[in-house]
Amino acid sequence: MFELNSVQKQKSTYKATQNACKLCSPLGASVAYKGFEGCVPLIHGSQGCATYIRRYLISHYKEPIDIASSNFTQDSTIFGGDENFKAAVLNIINSYKPQIVGIASTCLSETIGDDVNLFLHHFLEEYKDISTEFVIASTPSYQGSHIDGFHEAVSAVVKKFALSGPSQDHINLFTNFISTEDIRLIKEITADFGLDSILLPDYSESLDNPVWDTYHRIPEGGTSIANVERSGSAKASIEFGTILNQGNLTGRVKNKKLSRTGGKYLQNEMDVPSIEMPIPIGITQTDRFFETLKELSGNEIPEKYTKQRGRLIDSYVDAHKYTFGKRAVVYGEEDFVVAMAAFLDEIGIELALVASGGESGMLEEEVKKYCPENKDKVVVKEGFDFESIKEWSQENKPDILIGHSKGYYIARELGIPIIRVGFPVHDRIGGQRIKHLGYTGTQELFDKVVNALIEYKQTTSPVGYKYM
Ligand code: SF4
Repeated sequence: MFELNSVQKQKSTYKATQNACKLCSPLGASVAYKGFEGCVPLIHGSQGCATYIRRYLISHYKEPIDIASSNFTQDSTIFGGDENFKAAVLNIINSYKPQIVGIASTCLSETIGDDVNLFLHHFLEEYKDISTEFVIASTPSYQGSHIDGFHEAVSAVVKKFALSGPSQDHINLFTNFISTEDIRLIKEITADFGLDSILLPDYSESLDNPVWDTYHRIPEGGTSIANVERSGSAKASIEFGTILNQGNLTGRVKNKKLSRTGGKYLQNEMDVPSIEMPIPIGITQTDRFFETLKELSGNEIPEKYTKQRGRLIDSYVDAHKYTFGKRAVVYGEEDFVVAMAAFLDEIGIELALVASGGESGMLEEEVKKYCPENKDKVVVKEGFDFESIKEWSQENKPDILIGHSKGYYIARELGIPIIRVGFPVHDRIGGQRIKHLGYTGTQELFDKVVNALIEYKQTTSPVGYKYM
């Protein structure tokens, strides 16, 4: 008998990722770019990357979504994509006349070492009269997730356009990768406080348009370049998320000071204070957001919101008996699951498993910080895939799954309810219109969770019942 050496032992226990619980970095960058006015995303890599991103976004947003590609061939894969890059940029400019081309690199272009900045420099030397602006985000997917790509692109836009200046009255809102409905809600809330706010980014229109008579090559909406310029003289920035992009795309730097978000850039380079907070889901985190707006605006919280809050508390009381002690599996991108877990914690649900494909190294700490009721028993897994979530759930038998639609097959196999939240939602209509944030978003989530638990009980009851 041969003994395995330590490397062989390690290999024999290695498990490849099966059905990753995260998405591709340039996908996140594309969503972010769509939130800036007149911007066309360009994926520098093979056609398959852009096709996959388009398919994923269209299935969720139910909108035509143009994502350009430099369409690598065998030659460009070996000798570099300079010529393809040039051809792609010229095509975009001729066909779309964009204000901005938002470039995101891919696994392939990064692996062969394409220097996109140098390509752009060559291009602009040759085509000096072009007035289009260019932004570049380095987004190798093997070093991060869609969320890292999202933050990277937002930060690249801010770095490109923000102008430093004396502090003014407006504020910046870095709202993270939230739904288009949530963006509209946040805009309504800040307007109700009388605040002039700049959303970075704002894809509430460009990814969720009213019906058109004719096709629009570049959909309306998005934060204008003029407003990104103003972001450098804001009174403050609010950033949703406490994990954000901790430099994953440059080699997993687990140091908050090295965070590469737009908000941190404005704080470090232009003295715009950055206020970081969890995505406001649940009463505690929404209160935190409203208190911050109150302070920044100098205005009281409008009565409309105190009433929404009161109704939400009332419903918590009414339905506590249905949620108390129920065991949930929550999965998705890291900041989103922290916020969702915090909400479940306050409605008496037991957090059986909180999982993400992200690998910030911070998930467990953040979940425990914002989930005081569950902090001693919650199981937190980062770098987890769906097969691992399935195996864990088969063994531990949760009552409900809460996450995006990629987890549906697990719920189906276990015969338990799933609440679809976040991105992507591919097997239902209206993923882009799911409201999660604020008191009204929390109210909608709460009703969905409680009703799913009641429906499960009713369906599996041997006698059936009509009253509760
Ligand atoms: S190869 Fe990389 S960049 Fe392209 S779709 Fe796959 S993960 Fe995304």
